[in-house]
Amino acid sequence: MDIVKGNMGWIEVIVGPMFSGKSEELIRRLRRAAIARQRVQIFKPKIDERYAADEIVSHSGLGIPSEVAVKAEDVLAQVQPRTEVIGIDEAQFLGEELVNVCTKLADSGKRVIVAGLDTDYRGRPFEPMPRLLSVAEEITKLLAICVRCGNPAVHTQRLVESEELVVVGAGGMYEARCRRCFEQNIAQAKEPSPFLAPRVRAAGGGSAK
Ligand SMILES: [Zn+2]
Repeated sequence: MDIVKGNMGWIEVIVGPMFSGKSEELIRRLRRAAIARQRVQIFKPKIDERYAADEIVSHSGLGIPSEVAVKAEDVLAQVQPRTEVIGIDEAQFLGEELVNVCTKLADSGKRVIVAGLDTDYRGRPFEPMPRLLSVAEEITKLLAICVRCGNPAVHTQRLVESEELVVVGAGGMYEARCRRCFEQNIAQAKEPSPFLAPRVRAAGGGSAK
């Protein structure tokens, strides 16, 4: 954001697959705001309980203190009037209302920086992130590196069978894949397995269907 006059707010969105560095980019922007002596508040959904409970931690271990929200409305309720910059991590878990909440905050003059997955483990749009992109002033799409071939990776590959949309965290359950190596059907098994093996690789993409 180059030229911003007065106390106008706006929305920045950082999207991409897992392992693309979204949290690190969010933390970098928030740190810079804090160095500029702006009042910063950071939120993450309760569902994400990997690593520390009260801070945002990226995969590389870079941490920053955060507050917990169960749904998007909690962010609105917890934001202090004097806060200038609001960061939200793993925003895809906060529900449809997130778009309205971010819009309200930006309308009231605050800079809102939101990071989250834009597609799910099947490569489908992961609401509310796509709708948030349509109202944002600035969009950053990050790519990971495909663990199979080293190309830029746009997908989050789930390696275990489950029909749940959200299987949080846990190393070995997900990896980054490019569009060529992405196997959409691995996670499509008829009977969800309770994660007996950390890496179930169904040959040809899905043995149970
Ligand atoms: Zn690949």
